[in-house]
Order: sequence, then C-alpha cells, then structure tokens
Amino acid sequence: MSFPVQKSDAQWQAELASKQAESVAFQVTRQAATERPFTGKYEAHWADGSYHCICCGAKLFDSNTKFDAGCGWPSFSEAIPGAIQENVDRSHGMVRVETVCAQCGAHLGHVFPDGPQPTGLRYCMNSASLDFEQPK
Ligand SMILES: [Zn+2]
Repeated sequence: MSFPVQKSDAQWQAELASKQAESVAFQVTRQAATERPFTGKYEAHWADGSYHCICCGAKLFDSNTKFDAGCGWPSFSEAIPGAIQENVDRSHGMVRVETVCAQCGAHLGHVFPDGPQPTGLRYCMNSASLDFEQPK
C-alpha cells in the first residue's frame, strides 16, 4: 500500500513533536494504537471549524458532522469525500473497518454502521490523530 505522503518513522516523530501533538500521537497514527476513551482533547470539543490529519494536514472532517456518540472518542457522521481510506481490520478477534488518511496512511480510528441518519455512519476517531483548525 502506498500513499502520496511518505516519511520514515523518525521523520514522523519529528513532525509530530514540532506540532506539539499528543504524546500518544505517533503510536496511534503510525502503529494503529487506540487512545484511552474520554482522554482525547477533541472528545467533547464542539467549536466550529475543521479537523485535519495530525500527520500531513489533510482535511478530514467538518465540525458540523461531529456528534456526541457517548463512546469516549470524537465521532463524525461524514468524512470529507476522498479524504479517508477504509481497510478491513481483523485484529483483536473482531472484524472492523479501519480508517486511515488517504494522503499519508495515518491510522485514524474505525468506522461503524451505527451512526445517525442520513449517512448511518459513525467515524470513531482518536483525538491524537486529529488537528483542529478554526474557520479562516
Ligand atoms: Zn495524513
């Protein structure tokens, strides 16, 4: 699998450090870890703006698609078209759909078919994978 943005682990670590990303950001985005629920800075963050990939800056979600799923992670009902690649994930004895950034392959979280209408989707994301931007 190859993505338009390619960097070594050391380069990603330096990039994330320069953005003052959360300490778990490298493990989450490059090693598919999951942050503990209710610990992420965007879980209960409701400002207007957009959410971008912490690694490469690609825009992933608009704040108006964010909703409170009560699961402890920031949840969105719709992604920016083309921003996210989905992969079947059979780890941990479950079949889930992993979501990664289509530009750099950063692990973001999973998408589940139990979200609100009209999409019916719940993009369950790690705060550590996201970078919020206020409207320009
Ligand atoms: Zn990215």
